[in-house]
Amino acid sequence: MKGKASIAAYSLVLGIYTVAAYHLPFFRHVLEYLGEGDSKVAVVAFLALMLTAMNFVLYYLLVYFGRTVGKFLIAITLLFNAAAVYLVVSFNQMASIEMMGSVFHSNYNEVSGFFSFPLFFNTFLLGVPPVVYLFARKVERGSLRTLFACVGIALVVGSGAAAANYSHMPVARRHAPQLCGLIFPWSYIINTARFLDSERIRHRDEIMLPDAKLTTDTEDVCVLIIGESVRRDHLSHYGYGRETCPYTSRDSVTALAAMASATYTIGSVKALLEPEETDDLYEILPNYLSRTGIDVEWRTSNWGEPPVKTEKYYDVKALKQMYPDADAGYDGILLAGLREAILSSDKPKQFIVLHTYTNHGPMYCRDYPPEFEVFKPTGKIVEDYKSDPQLLYNAYDNSLVYTDWLIHSVIEILQGMPDKRTCMLFVSDHGESLGENNTYMHATPLEFAPKEQLEIPFLVWTRNAGLKVKDLPEVGQHHVYHSVLRFFGVDSPAFNESLCIFE
Ligand SMILES: [Zn+2]
Repeated sequence: MKGKASIAAYSLVLGIYTVAAYHLPFFRHVLEYLGEGDSKVAVVAFLALMLTAMNFVLYYLLVYFGRTVGKFLIAITLLFNAAAVYLVVSFNQMASIEMMGSVFHSNYNEVSGFFSFPLFFNTFLLGVPPVVYLFARKVERGSLRTLFACVGIALVVGSGAAAANYSHMPVARRHAPQLCGLIFPWSYIINTARFLDSERIRHRDEIMLPDAKLTTDTEDVCVLIIGESVRRDHLSHYGYGRETCPYTSRDSVTALAAMASATYTIGSVKALLEPEETDDLYEILPNYLSRTGIDVEWRTSNWGEPPVKTEKYYDVKALKQMYPDADAGYDGILLAGLREAILSSDKPKQFIVLHTYTNHGPMYCRDYPPEFEVFKPTGKIVEDYKSDPQLLYNAYDNSLVYTDWLIHSVIEILQGMPDKRTCMLFVSDHGESLGENNTYMHATPLEFAPKEQLEIPFLVWTRNAGLKVKDLPEVGQHHVYHSVLRFFGVDSPAFNESLCIFE
């Protein structure tokens, strides 16, 4: 390569490569959605032109204004594209809002679960050649006037190509979440923006609810366990063929069928703690109870909840400091010193939340102790799941057995306090896909979410509570809010009888 290339030629080469190398899944979906009479070649050609123009503009601007920094940013997107297209082809796993949240939250466990030789090999194969070109090719920066001309032409061509496909807009709109998730690097740039926006919503001021008051002075303890990625149909309480609930099977729990409000943790935990479906942020349950005079303790090995206003907020690091002998490797640490914590409270009513992580994929076998390896063998890398789904079911079901042990342990602690009114609720944040239609894990956009990601368990156990669980065919996540208010005898204008599980 002699001399210098113009930015226009340079950006065009990278733009064409981006469309050709990383958009096969996108075009495959487009062809799937097109009707009989549609001219497939024309639609694909115009879409390719539009995507090339979009990438051309992005690369041109980054190289012109960002120079070396711009090239580094492009290099990162090229490597990300290569990894993302592999995850989509192999696991239908998109760079979802949850995935981007995990990246930003340095949730190494989730992201690293996908690390494997095939992933690195594919990333190398599709990502490294354009990066070499990116840095090896010398570029003539050119004038600002050339920039305006080139970007202007690209925008006209891109808009023209989009307009040529205008008649397919209704189809595109119907399948937008699926299709947009397959346009790289735009999908993860947009999902990063969505994640940052959900973080903004999560941290904004709550809309306060009307003041409430306690109507009883009994000693009440309610433990809410928020499950992670527990799908209903894999629990034996709901008729699953395998014994995945061996510990609670004799605890006389009531198993209600529930639907999740969202398929990703931030969205569904918010729903679980709020009184109704809303895009705003209403005073969440622990904060409302705390303001009403109830002792609130939050223990978590997970993340993603709106800010909890209590001094007793403990993540794994804090619990390990308080209980140095506890094993911080598993969710069992959430139980460390729990009995003593309840007995030492200076208030008669206590609300305790355990936000667990155990059933989060993709490497389910990492999050339970070896003695819970009931179903064998299990997969050691995600590619194993493709070759033999049984390896996936075994690992996931073992993680459910461990979660069942956690639930049972909480019930046992509460059972040891016969003088108190006690209650345990276990509700999952969302479900989980285990390879149905080549889809794995969760965070599929709600419009496309398969039932496996939405059907969740809602387990109830009470003692001395004087409450009977209603016979309800199906409940939602907002039922938690109103049922806990009823359990504690909280008199509140925000209470909604139709969303309460107790008679
Ligand atoms: Zn989750």
